[in-house]
Amino acid sequence: MDYDTFGSNAVELAIDLANTGRDAPDWAARFLRGHDEWFEGTTDFTLSPGETARAGETADLVRAVALAGSRQEVMDRLNALLARARPRPYATDHDGELHLHYARPDAPLLEQLTTTVAMGLSQVVAQHGWQRLGVCSAEGCEDVYVDTSRNASRRYCSNTCASRSTVAAYRARRKA
Ligand SMILES: [Zn+2]
Ligand SMILES: [Zn+2]
Repeated sequence: MDYDTFGSNAVELAIDLANTGRDAPDWAARFLRGHDEWFEGTTDFTLSPGETARAGETADLVRAVALAGSRQEVMDRLNALLARARPRPYATDHDGELHLHYARPDAPLLEQLTTTVAMGLSQVVAQHGWQRLGVCSAEGCEDVYVDTSRNASRRYCSNTCASRSTVAAYRARRKA
């Protein structure tokens, strides 16, 4: 939940949320437990079914921002996401370093998640451009990514998808 540039920051939480499977009824609580480094040690990682549904809506909005095809679309979708955020900057050293969070640790867990995701994503789009967000080019993969490469050349969600696609392209060339 940090104010930061690229790297270990809130936009990664947004991307992870958008790419998380939602088959299990408690998928959102599990997602949060798996990302507990974003929260203070006292956090209770439980969500009601209604809160879980809203976490899913937030995930859909993150995805919609990444899939948007124009600046206007990006702004509209970011604003829909930001309308759910309640930023309350908060200084903390829960991980040993003094840094800032977008949400207070005593805010409801869903509010902390939504706020962090909305602020992190907006911050990167405003600072680095909406073209930095995209959807994986690998066949059969729909995951979204944020491109943190220096020359904005990323096309895949992960190294796994990148090498899978390289192998597939090689095989296709050999066949041809
Ligand atoms: Zn932190
Ligand atoms: Zn992929």
